[in-house]
Amino acid sequence: MSTRPEMMLQESLHQQFGFQHFLKGQEEVVRRVLASESAVAIFPTGAGKSLCYQLPALHLPGITLVVSPLLSLMKDQLDFLVSKNIPAAKLDSTMTREDYVATLQAAKKGDVKILMISVERFKNEQFRLNLSKLNISLLVVDEAHCISEWGHNFRPDYLKIPTYQKEFNIRQVLLLTATATPQVADDMCRRFDIPKKNIFTTGFFRKNLCLRVVPTIEEEKTKALTDVLSEPPLGPSIVYVIRQRTAERVSEILSDKGFNAAPYHAGMKSEEREAIQNRFMAGRLGIVVATIAFGMGIDKHDIRKVVHYDLPKSIESYSQEIGRAGRDGNQSVCSVLGNQGSVPVLENFVYGDTPERRGLQHALKMIKSCSEGLLEIRLFELSHDADIRMLPLKTLLVYLEIENIIKPKYVYFENYPFRFIKAEDEIVECFQDERKQFVQTLFAQSKTGRVWTHPDIEAIMSTTGSGRERVLTALDYFDEKGWIELRPKSSVEVFEVLNSDFDVSDTTNWLLDLFTSRESFEVKRIQQMIRFFEESSCLADGLSTYFGETLNHPCGVCSACQAMEPIRFPSVEYRSLAELDFDSICEPIFDNIDPVASKTLITRFLCGINTPNLSKKKAKTVKNFGRLAAYPYRVVLNWVDENKRVP
Ligand code: ADP
Ligand code: MG
Repeated sequence: MSTRPEMMLQESLHQQFGFQHFLKGQEEVVRRVLASESAVAIFPTGAGKSLCYQLPALHLPGITLVVSPLLSLMKDQLDFLVSKNIPAAKLDSTMTREDYVATLQAAKKGDVKILMISVERFKNEQFRLNLSKLNISLLVVDEAHCISEWGHNFRPDYLKIPTYQKEFNIRQVLLLTATATPQVADDMCRRFDIPKKNIFTTGFFRKNLCLRVVPTIEEEKTKALTDVLSEPPLGPSIVYVIRQRTAERVSEILSDKGFNAAPYHAGMKSEEREAIQNRFMAGRLGIVVATIAFGMGIDKHDIRKVVHYDLPKSIESYSQEIGRAGRDGNQSVCSVLGNQGSVPVLENFVYGDTPERRGLQHALKMIKSCSEGLLEIRLFELSHDADIRMLPLKTLLVYLEIENIIKPKYVYFENYPFRFIKAEDEIVECFQDERKQFVQTLFAQSKTGRVWTHPDIEAIMSTTGSGRERVLTALDYFDEKGWIELRPKSSVEVFEVLNSDFDVSDTTNWLLDLFTSRESFEVKRIQQMIRFFEESSCLADGLSTYFGETLNHPCGVCSACQAMEPIRFPSVEYRSLAELDFDSICEPIFDNIDPVASKTLITRFLCGINTPNLSKKKAKTVKNFGRLAAYPYRVVLNWVDENKRVP
């Protein structure tokens, strides 16, 4: 590159963003993008990935379209851009119709340089139509590891992004992620036709982090934890656990011992969670005992300790979680207090995600029976009926889309519950004549519960003679005015069935193979993580290698570098299952859940793995649910297999 464009980049960085220098890796990626090539940036969280698209966006002729998995991430990036006077906007489902249309108009006119969307937007045919009229120069995929089935956090909808790139004729893509193994990076490159030389990886090694593995049996965990927390360097700490109830319990123990601790998990009310997060961020709370729900978007610089009370879910999660420590560059300690007892718990997350044959058959038959017209899928309903969890169900639909069996048309909501903020009659008084009557009828045809009011859309339509559109527009308008809080619910996904000619049994087998190989892969990953902790000669080096970076020398400070002999997680002894009476243990299942429960369902019940069907039947309250949760799933499955008589 000549000096002029070089000047241009520096100038842009100063003037538009107010930054003095590029951070490591940024400039290389920016240049590659401006040279009209596709690229992958794998930098750890906080390393400044967003700038890799934000700066080029200002110099590209068309729009930069950014796909982001999390609304909150979109909001942060947008606020940043707006503060720098960069024309950016987002399109999401919480916007009013008017704002939505106005944003699209602005984009068409060229008044928006960066447009942020969630991947779900693409499901809407109307949106796709609008998109095809825009001039898009660059497609950015944030958290791009979600595209790979071999990574963590696989998101089925991401699999379709390469197809969208082609559909909308977008010349180049930029993939951003904080965690991609070489295998995942290869997978991403293959799907988007990106040459390997355009992968930029940087900075996994953080010399201020001291990584420690502390093999600890369950009974000694409290002591080990309080020891770790009491040692220098003292300061804000995060303790990660797997289960919500462990978060509660450990936080209580710590509080009793005089630590300033609070729990954080997805089972808590959002206000409560927010309050705890705010206290922690403000430095008024010393320790958060959290499940993985805590972390996304936590940008606190002085976190001194990240402790894994239970084993992390994967090496990727570990890397992200410890990445929250020591952002200020000061000495910080990351400790894993592990034993083999966590392994079945981690494996059970995986096993619960594999659909049963009969569930797949159920879903496929439903699709097949829709020989013409549109197929409406209520995901929650189908998830219960087929007893397939939401994520694998969505994956299943994406697989069928890729096979050209179904094609998404649009998504709509069936229910529009709302909560009054302004009194009902005051709202009515804002209108006159026919509109007033319409609004009165709308409220009259709504049922109010303790908090939420449920409009009966069909009844409103027939009483007023108005179309669905008008009812929804009115509700949207009230919401926009701040008179009500509208919470659309129960989405219905509408598909076109392109080919109902498929063979149910062949397709079931094909899907079952896909899901089963994914299952074995995920189980192997857990084993790989154990080996990483136990066998790495230097943990920092092992971690860097896992993400495709080479360290020239061991860190010298991690527990492996300091230890004299290899670390081993203590194993857990089990009583043999042969001593248990199968029939009496399983009686509650046949009595309360399903008289013809399959072996898989029995195993899931005994291991305490919830499926949609089991939660519907409140399996948690049934005797013996989770009774064998400490045993490896395979061991329980074999035992069930040996003992269950074929009816
Ligand atoms: P990532 O997406 O990799 O986690 P972000 O893009 O959110 O990281 O950037 C993290 C922080 O670094 C942001 O506050 C951003 O404004 C800041 N930042 C990015 N680039 C630079 C730079 N060249 N100089 C200084 N700060 C930067
Ligand atoms: Mg980011």
